[in-house]
Amino acid sequence: MYKSIREADVLVAGGGPAGLAAAIAVRQAGFAVTVVDCAQPPIDKACGEGIMPDGLAALRQLGAHIDPRQAAPFRGIRFLNDDVQVEADFPHGAGYGIRRPVLHQLLIDRATEVGACLHWGARITGLSAEGVAIGGPPVRCRWLLCADGQNSLLRRLAGLDDSRPAQRRFGFRRHYRVAPWSDFVEVHWSNCGQMYITPVSDNEICVALITRSPGLGFAEALPHFPALRARLKDAAPDDRHLGALTVTRRLAAVQLGKVALVGEASGSVDAVTGEGLSMAFHQAIALAEAMRAGSLQQYEMTHRRIARLPRMMCTLMLAMDKHPHFRRRVFRALTSEPDYFRRLLALHTGAMSPLNFGLRETVSLGWHLLAA
Ligand SMILES: Cc1cc2nc3c(=O)[nH]c(=O)nc-3n(C[C@H](O)[C@H](O)[C@H](O)COP(=O)(O)OP(=O)(O)OC[C@H]3O[C@@H](n4cnc5c(N)ncnc54)[C@H](O)[C@@H]3O)c2cc1C
Repeated sequence: MYKSIREADVLVAGGGPAGLAAAIAVRQAGFAVTVVDCAQPPIDKACGEGIMPDGLAALRQLGAHIDPRQAAPFRGIRFLNDDVQVEADFPHGAGYGIRRPVLHQLLIDRATEVGACLHWGARITGLSAEGVAIGGPPVRCRWLLCADGQNSLLRRLAGLDDSRPAQRRFGFRRHYRVAPWSDFVEVHWSNCGQMYITPVSDNEICVALITRSPGLGFAEALPHFPALRARLKDAAPDDRHLGALTVTRRLAAVQLGKVALVGEASGSVDAVTGEGLSMAFHQAIALAEAMRAGSLQQYEMTHRRIARLPRMMCTLMLAMDKHPHFRRRVFRALTSEPDYFRRLLALHTGAMSPLNFGLRETVSLGWHLLAA
């Protein structure tokens, strides 16, 4: 039951991964923090449940450590298209597959440990000069951090929504009781979208389907992924499957005055990049640093930098999704020189800067794409 609050130093609207990460970072920077979320924890959500190594490093910076018994490591990414496959290890460390409620509880525990006040079951309905409306008198705050997700109400009320077109696809997730057959995250490609597999424990995998077709569910999609269908033939689906829109959205600004957007409220890349959570954790840290320095402008710049590479990869992956011919060319180019994929993955996870990717590789990859 939500006990009405009158004021907060920092009010975080939304207690999903981004909101809780922001609360932890800001609290670690010395601010008093209150988080408000309309749902009851631990919150589940349609998600591929993979966290990249750089996202794990950010989590560690927040003091949140994943218990290996509650998750499963993966060493890299494998792409599969028809009978072609290409794979690479992460250059540094592993990623982790972890169920969303487990991740949520971990972040709640850490936020509580550092002294954030958490309020659940409290819906924010408005924003005015008097404060934030949460079902009682307006709550005044010095800083308002909006982490209320993809359809952020506060982004709109704060005047930070803009009319740039957003690309939408449909995402679903389902768990299967089966021992992971690989320690890679496998991304299976077909003309109807992607299905990707993340190990989440010794005997469970998470399967995410991302598609442009609104009417396509797991049953209709699986025949388009024969190799995966064969793998899942005897595996029992574990629970109800969840769905959500996945949106590629870029905003002109993510802060205004004392209001800042974080996580999916601040723009997003398509789910197939597997970068949403990592970006949110990095943004949380950048936001706290900017608040400590007293300048949300600094956050604006760092936010842009954090999003740059995931956006680049997102553009490439959405083009591969939309144009099967281009996708086949990319696969041919990547298999012609396996080191390309390793370097692309290093770039994707921030382990290599675009400058180090090298002019030679860029020209050579471009040549292979044209010639393949
Ligand atoms: C199918 C799919 C697969 C994905 N796979 C991956 C993956 O493998 N790896 C990865 O890193 N990312 C993945 N993502 C992206 C990832 O799920 C998101 O980046 C992440 O959930 C963003 O967290 P968030 O806290 O910004 O938003 P959310 O998780 O949506 O949290 C927003 C919170 O705000 C609360 N809220 C909303 N409105 C209000 C209100 N008015 N008042 C109070 N509270 C409110 C909600 O209850 C919610 O708890 C995937 C996404 C999809 C859809």
